[in-house]
Amino acid sequence: MMLKIKRVPTVVSNYQKEEVEGGRVGGCGRNCLNKCCVQGAKFPLYAFKKEKEAPGDRALLGHEEREPPVAFLDSLLLGEWEDRMQRGLFRYDVTACETKVIPGECGFIAQLNEGRHLKKRPTEFRVDKVLQPFDGSKFNFTKVGQEEVLFQFEASEDGEAQFFPNAPIDVESSPSVVAINVSPIEYGHVLLIPRILECLPQRIDRASFLLALYMASEAGNPYFRLGYNSLGAFATINHLHFQAYYLAVPFPVEKASTRNITALDSGVNVSELVNYPVRGLVYEGGNTIQDLANAVSDSCICLQDNNIPYNVLISDCGKRIFLFPQCYAEKQALGEVDAEVLDTQVNPAVWEISGHMVLKRKKDYEEASEENAWRLLAEVSLSEERFREVSDLIFEAISCSIEDVAPSSLDEPNAEPLVDFAAPCPNMVRGKKDCLVLQ
Ligand SMILES: [Zn+2]
Repeated sequence: MMLKIKRVPTVVSNYQKEEVEGGRVGGCGRNCLNKCCVQGAKFPLYAFKKEKEAPGDRALLGHEEREPPVAFLDSLLLGEWEDRMQRGLFRYDVTACETKVIPGECGFIAQLNEGRHLKKRPTEFRVDKVLQPFDGSKFNFTKVGQEEVLFQFEASEDGEAQFFPNAPIDVESSPSVVAINVSPIEYGHVLLIPRILECLPQRIDRASFLLALYMASEAGNPYFRLGYNSLGAFATINHLHFQAYYLAVPFPVEKASTRNITALDSGVNVSELVNYPVRGLVYEGGNTIQDLANAVSDSCICLQDNNIPYNVLISDCGKRIFLFPQCYAEKQALGEVDAEVLDTQVNPAVWEISGHMVLKRKKDYEEASEENAWRLLAEVSLSEERFREVSDLIFEAISCSIEDVAPSSLDEPNAEPLVDFAAPCPNMVRGKKDCLVLQ
């Protein structure tokens, strides 16, 4: 059986709409990133320092030594983003969207965003296949206008962070780029598109995930998170991309307690969320940034290979990663989702799952409560039994077994989930603090 749901995809590029609505034919003439226009194009290039010993104390030292380029990524991203806002490239003014923290223990964040989903025709979206081949006839990021690209982001060749304000695109070396999301859900909402010209489908691989982790680490700002949605878990475009934005409050999932499950040989610790509506795994530690990246990307690859949709949140400057296998779209297609939850038309992708609820209807925003948020997210979660099965698959894939775990560590949730990793960022959002809106 092929499972499909009708949904209104969010427009992430200004060229997507023309595409969907059968826009221009013939010569390109829109200054895109495809072969027709990309030759000779120039963009800023941020080259990050590769292979540092993150994410431990040594990374902290590295950060301090390299303070100027780290702050530079933040100001480059936001400076370019604001420039695009001035130029009117966004579909609406996200800074005018109402946001509030929902009263309660979790601190869910609700945003009323009526502009994001305005679009006339729903499209059929296949949700039962996590891996689908790239289809060049559908919208993809090579079709965006060059003005939507903020900068190129890649590893430095000489081992030091570097910036070039006007670097030509080297088509052969398949550059990774950061572009705006024209339907932002928060300040600085961007897309990281690894090796854009290779036209990779939405599918995690080791190198691309490492790139995303480097971006989080380079930004060095705990309020800047990256997220990933697989196909079947509310990705709307089958062209490899991560999303990222700034939100100056802790996400509820970042404050949730965890319970240790196991430690890998590489030093990566894996735990699971406790008392959170969506069951998920948490990865942290590792001898190098690559260890952590590999543990997560191998887990994602396992889920992909088993056709299990999932979302990933990269948090805490790349030092803490949440992995959520999910089944909402499948339940939706089978008619098993609670009607009231369905009525909200909220698509529970990585941001919603992490506790930032983007609501489409004023009514839902006004009536937003912790109970409602919890009820929606509970629909996204795998059952306890299924989560065990899926976790076992993952642990098998990343070569460890749950039998390795000392029984005592399974019984007690960690009291302070962030305690081991609280040091590196001076502005770090601590585990148990009450949630404050800092804006
Ligand atoms: Zn073109």
